[in-house]
Amino acid sequence: MVEKGLTGWIRPKVVVVVNNNSTKKSPLYFGEGIAITHFIYSKNMAKVTLIDHPLIQHKLTLMRKVETSTAKFRVLLKEISLLLAYEVTRDFPLKYEVIKTPLAPMNAPVLAPEKKLVLVSIMRAGQGILDGMLELMPSVRVGHVGLYRDPKTLIPVEYYFKVPDDVDKRDMLVVDPMLATGNSAVAAVERLKSTNPISIRFVCLLAAPEGIEHFCAVHPDVPLYTAAIDDHLDEHGYIIPGLGDAGDRLFGTK
Ligand code: URA
Repeated sequence: MVEKGLTGWIRPKVVVVVNNNSTKKSPLYFGEGIAITHFIYSKNMAKVTLIDHPLIQHKLTLMRKVETSTAKFRVLLKEISLLLAYEVTRDFPLKYEVIKTPLAPMNAPVLAPEKKLVLVSIMRAGQGILDGMLELMPSVRVGHVGLYRDPKTLIPVEYYFKVPDDVDKRDMLVVDPMLATGNSAVAAVERLKSTNPISIRFVCLLAAPEGIEHFCAVHPDVPLYTAAIDDHLDEHGYIIPGLGDAGDRLFGTK
């Protein structure tokens, strides 16, 4: 059960989740330690997964703090990315092969080899999530999309695009820590769709309700994963309460 927002979009601020056989209300965007991953559906039924594992929520709080250093921010983003990858890949198919342990043969699960992945980082802050995920999945291929917002038209303009040649034989995870207005994510996924990957999932750390609504309206076929849904965007397009400019905090540029 979820609360309905003003626009008819299901506002994800308060969601009822089942925890320890009880049903309780969870103020999600401040992450109160509800150890369950659950689904929220926007009005067009695109799937949004909130990954509110307590470890992620704790680390995210440390990232948000204004006093957290660049070095610490980087480490935290990497750690959270490992945990996000774990959840985003939860339904990946397995096959079985016979192996020998020191004591007995067994039919053991391994990842199905046909599940080939490409991780695509939306520059520049996507690099932080990419680094973490690559630690967990070192043999995946990597793509990059660079976009900037034209100051006059506010339309995202592509300045870099590189994906592997065989992207049409791969499932794609697109990563960017912040889903704010959703403009960059929408444009990047639009461009990436033209390369015909088998599937696309979008993974971020923090999302604004406005960004989710925009993204899901344009790409209802792309599942979206986020570790938190914050309150709103300010007039400059920053997520509130958010964590500031993810790129600046990651690279120490301000
Ligand atoms: N990008 C960021 O880095 N931070 C925001 O709050 C919004 C967009």
